Formats: sequence, structure tokens, C-alpha cells
Amino acid sequence: MKPGQGVLRILFVAAEASPWVKSGGLGDVMGALPRELFQRGHEVATVLPLFAAVDRAEAGLELLATIHVRFQGIDFPTRIFAAAYPRSECRALFIENQYYFERTGLYDDPLTGKPWPDDDERWFFFQTALLELVRQTEMSPDLIVCCDWHTALIPALLRIRHQENVALRNTRSVLSLHNLGYQGKLPAESLTKLGLPRELLFPLSPFEFYGQLNCLKAGICFADEVVTVSPTYALEICTPERGDGLDGVLRQHGERVHGILNGIDTDTWNPATDPFLEEPYTSGSLARKAANRPRLLREFGLDPGFGGPVLAMVTRLTGQKGMNILAGCLDRLLQRDLRLVILGTGEPQFEKFLADVAQVHPDRLGVRLEYSEPLSHLAYAGSDFFLMPSRYEPCGLSQMYAMRYGSLPVVHATGGLKDTVVPFLEDADRATGFAFTEYNAEALLEAVDTALSAWRNPRAMRRLQKNAMKVDFSWAHSAQLYEELFHKVREHSRWGE
Ligand code: ADP
Repeated sequence: MKPGQGVLRILFVAAEASPWVKSGGLGDVMGALPRELFQRGHEVATVLPLFAAVDRAEAGLELLATIHVRFQGIDFPTRIFAAAYPRSECRALFIENQYYFERTGLYDDPLTGKPWPDDDERWFFFQTALLELVRQTEMSPDLIVCCDWHTALIPALLRIRHQENVALRNTRSVLSLHNLGYQGKLPAESLTKLGLPRELLFPLSPFEFYGQLNCLKAGICFADEVVTVSPTYALEICTPERGDGLDGVLRQHGERVHGILNGIDTDTWNPATDPFLEEPYTSGSLARKAANRPRLLREFGLDPGFGGPVLAMVTRLTGQKGMNILAGCLDRLLQRDLRLVILGTGEPQFEKFLADVAQVHPDRLGVRLEYSEPLSHLAYAGSDFFLMPSRYEPCGLSQMYAMRYGSLPVVHATGGLKDTVVPFLEDADRATGFAFTEYNAEALLEAVDTALSAWRNPRAMRRLQKNAMKVDFSWAHSAQLYEELFHKVREHSRWGE
């Protein structure tokens, strides 16, 4: 077989994958990329925890195997279930552990709003079980793609614990970084729960970060290659401003750090066929998009007859998503002749703030503090503009959905937002949205004002919407880049085997 060709055996390992369990972009990517690579002829599966949120009947789960996982001195007989991706034969495998995963709340305890206190054990169990699954069922994948800190110790475990293992000896690893803001910083003692000696945590070791265990750092140091979700973010994380303390390590491994832009699932996110819309439409029938606006406004408690510009946000309510600068200008923003709808959940102080402002401006601001897939689709379809003032943004999918639905994004020019939106003030003919560079409330407001002036010119607005809707954000191109990277990983291990 020629290098760079042939069928790859790929195992993706992640905390979430749409449609079974999703809290953000990672879920979307895991719902689409594995399927796309499978469609391209590779042997692909995705491994997930069997969270309580997974609807077992809807997913059509089937028992695949029962494996034995020795973890913290206890033998856990562990059931593995399988389900098929929608419209595909690509499979997702679910690792069951009622104690660790059957809780409401994926990452945080809903009662405290904080990460589960036994987060180390939960994710160590998952990673241990994953490697046992591969070993006991003799899957022998060419590579394991580990997503974010929850799975970032797998590359280290492969090197340290499974080198002699026939089933895993030739398995390479890729660390996929979806958000450097979450690193899995855990108490030093945690390492022993994984059955690894505490001595591995010597100062400046791959595991150590200011005296703590840092899962992501270990992943970066041990993985064969590191990939993140946009070219700009790949550069940004190597700088002190955006590296969140890991920029030095990332620079050290610089030539192994890649940026591949996420795509979107263009079947699920298609305004022409979307079942959640009041009225489907295409870039050729934009007038029909307008039928979605009254329904959106009504769903958010606003006057459905409003004829001016409608702005939307669908977001986690966190500092990363620009909530601070939005808070800094929300009152002034709402003095413009516009309506704003916000669909989101997140940090309690932002939820309270938005609920309070909505009480002051009930006719202008509609807020729904919930997670709703149907409402999110309607928000992209029923709005004219989509606000995404993220402080940093690894890739961002929402702005791509917005563009596909003809809702023009107003974004902070950072990370993947910079890679996907052509700003109006840079190139009025090719523009697909609006952007601001300085990260502050004034700049955000100015960008909104530019958007509103475009709105007053229906012809310009149409052109921008058509531009945005025509951009090809499908996975085809990115999947090919992943394929090339994965072939390279299989052909050349950095460990020299
Ligand atoms: P991130 O992964 O950082 O949250 P992305 O833009 O990459 O940001 O992905 C966000 C995804 O989560 C999009 O699919 C968006 O529609 C969805 N989403 C975020 N908040 C909500 C919500 N409250 N209800 C429904 N979908 C949401």
C-alpha cells in the first residue's frame, strides 16, 4: 500500500456526540466528522460514556459486549452498547457505568453548578475502560483521536502502560483540542487513582502544572500529533495571550500542532429541509425566511408584528462567549430600534443579569434560559443578525449555522470566527458578516451599528445574505485534511516505531 492511502481504522473518543448527547460544538463535531470519514471508506467508531442523557430507546442501543475493567482495585464488569449514526452505518459505542455516568448534568453537578467532585475518577474510569475495550475486543485501531481533557491521558497511558500490548502496540494517538480553557487541572494525588505513580508528577514533567496534574498538558506531550479546530486558533494558542498557560508547551511541540477548520453537518443544518422551521427556504427564496420571524418573536415573548431588525444569540452564557462585553452595552443596544432574542444557559450571574434586563425591557429583549435544539434552529432562521462576541473562539459553529440560515454574524475577529466570516468593512462585495477587533463593549456596539446600517439597505442586505448562505461549510474539505493528517500519523510515529 502506498503511504498516505488506504483504509484507516480510527477510534474517536469524546464526552459528547450529537444526536445522543450534546452541550456544545464538540457534540456537533463528533456527530459529523466520524460519519464523514466513515462515508469516505474508513473504519470509524466513536466511543462515549453512557450518560443518563442518552435516550436509550431512541438511540436503539444494542448490547455489544461485556468487558472487565479493573479500576482502583475494583473489577467493574462493564457493558458496552452500540448504536448507528443517523443515516449511516458508522457506529457509536457507549461505555456504561451507572455510578459515574448516570447523573443529570454532563460536566457539572446541577445543584452546585460546579464540576462533579469526583471528576478525576469519572474520566479516569472512562479512559481506562476505553483502553480495555480496545484490548479485550482486539479492535487494533491505527489511531485513537482523543477529544479535550476528558480523554487526554490516553496518549500517556498508551506509552506508559500498553507498550507491550499486542492490541495497542501499534496504535497512535491524536489529541484534538476543542477548547484550551478546560484543561483538566486536578489535585496531584489524582494521578494515583489512575494507578500511575505520583512520582510522575515531578516539576516540569509532562503531567505537572504548578504542582497540579494537568491532563491536557500530558495529552500535548504524549500524543503523536495535536490538532485544533481552526488555523487561527492553532496560532493563537501558541501565544501567552491565548495559551492559557500552555503556550510554552505548545510552542515546544509547535510543528506537531495543526489547525483544521470544523465543518458543519449540512443535512441537519439545512434551511430548505429543517423540520423545526415555520417555513423552509433557500438563498433563492429568501422572502420565505421572513415567515420564521413572527414565530421566533412569539416564542420569546415579543411582539410578532415587529418589522425591524431581529438579532439572536444561541450560546453558553460564559465569559468566553463575550457575556461581559455584551453586559457592558446591552442597555444601549436595546435603545436601538431592534429586537434581541437570547437562548442560552450557563453561569448563574449571567443568567440572572439577562433575566433582570429582560424585565426592564420586556418589549425588546426575549430571553429563554434553557437548552433547546428546536428553538436554536428557529433562532438562526428567524433572525437577521447573529451576535457572537466571543472573547476567544476555537472554531465556533454557531456563526456557520447562522450564515447558512442567512442570519448575518456580528463577531469578534478571533480564532475560527476570523477564519469563517468575511467582514463587511473589509470587503463589502464578498462580505458574509460583520466583525470587530478590539475586545470591548464599544467595538461590539459599533459593529452592530454597521450591521443595522446595512439592514436599512435591502439590496445590500440581500447580497450579504446570499453570500453567507452560499459558503460551503460542509465537512468534505476538512475531512480530507484530517485524512491526510491521520495517514501521516499512521505512517510515521514520533516514537520511531
Ligand atoms: P461551543 O462549543 O463553544 O459552545 P460552538 O459555536 O462551537 O460553541 O457550538 C455551540 C453549539 O451549541 C451550536 O450547535 C449551538 O446551536 C448549540 N447551543 C448552544 N447553546 C444552546 C442552547 N441553549 N440551546 C440549543 N443549542 C445551543
